[in-house]
Amino acid sequence: MYAVLAGGVGAARFLRGLTAIVAPEQVTAIVNVGDDLDRFGLRICPDLDSITYWLAEVVHPEQQWGRADERFTVAEELIRLGHEPWFTLGDRDLALHLHRTEQLRRGLPLSQVTAEVAQAFGVAVRLLPATDDRVETRITTVDGRDLHFQEYWVRERAAPEVAGVHLAGAPLARPAPGVVDALLSADAVLIAPSNPVVSIGTILAVPGIAEALRQTVAPVVGVSPIVGGRVVRGMADRLLPAVGAEVSAAGVAAHYGPGLLDGWVVDHRDADAVGQVAAAGIRCVATDTMMDDVEVAAALARTCLDLAAEVAGEAAGEQAGDAAGEAADEAAGEAADEGAVRAS
Ligand code: GDP
Ligand code: CA
Repeated sequence: MYAVLAGGVGAARFLRGLTAIVAPEQVTAIVNVGDDLDRFGLRICPDLDSITYWLAEVVHPEQQWGRADERFTVAEELIRLGHEPWFTLGDRDLALHLHRTEQLRRGLPLSQVTAEVAQAFGVAVRLLPATDDRVETRITTVDGRDLHFQEYWVRERAAPEVAGVHLAGAPLARPAPGVVDALLSADAVLIAPSNPVVSIGTILAVPGIAEALRQTVAPVVGVSPIVGGRVVRGMADRLLPAVGAEVSAAGVAAHYGPGLLDGWVVDHRDADAVGQVAAAGIRCVATDTMMDDVEVAAALARTCLDLAAEVAGEAAGEQAGDAAGEAADEAAGEAADEGAVRAS
């Protein structure tokens, strides 16, 4: 069993690779919900939906989120009625939001609605929202505003200077059912190349999840979302400095820290980071991480699992070493006793 911490597009691309090399039923994705928002009374979960659309192979191929073969009849009418079109919703996409909202209104938890939607789309990966509780990523800006993440990112196109990021509602949130268990019982925990602040950071902000990652005996291996010193897409480069992290492959590894990470995979363009990451006590390898096709994504997933196996093997070796050491100590102790007897 493999557990994967996941944001949206970067994670979806990675999961497509992972499920090319292991059975999808073996994979649990723990997905960010800090981006979720209400529009027109509908509950929208962008990261869960991006992953669902990718794994169901119905994602818009160029855009990389939303549906392929989409229409915008409803959105056009809303614009006619004077609504600002900043968060565009396609007709097919809207059907999913209508369904989700209705199920939530009937009292079902998001985790259950998510599982049903995944099944309807033929997605065999187990998709778990990080939490069933309402949380919301808030961006405070240097000009003194407090914005929902989507207002900052989609409406204002990440233009405002960021002062801070926090997950509103986090103190009272609990991990969704199955999340902690998946982390504790996994053979390996993988951190997808997702936004370290507003995707992975917000998952780790749900009380109990970071603790489970530190506790699990499973090796924890992440993939750098920074390639050649830059973000592949999104705005992580605008947010990392706001949380005191450097925008580099090594900077993101240091941000998660050796208490959490056992292994880190960087792009070969950032191969010079390997030594620095290893010096911090995190095993590090460089490979191709630009997952523009499924072959590269699958090879990257393979590298992650190999690194995880290496970490696990080393830990087992240490344990065996400890046990052997203890046996040797005991034998030495006995010998010393004998020695003591002989000496007397
Ligand atoms: P979002 O929720 O759709 O914004 O997506 P994520 O949370 O998954 O984060 C996007 C992050 O993934 C960005 O920081 C990108 O740099 C990174 N990313 C996207 N595609 C790739 C890829 O193919 N390789 C790597 N290494 N990183 C990627
Ligand atoms: Ca997202």
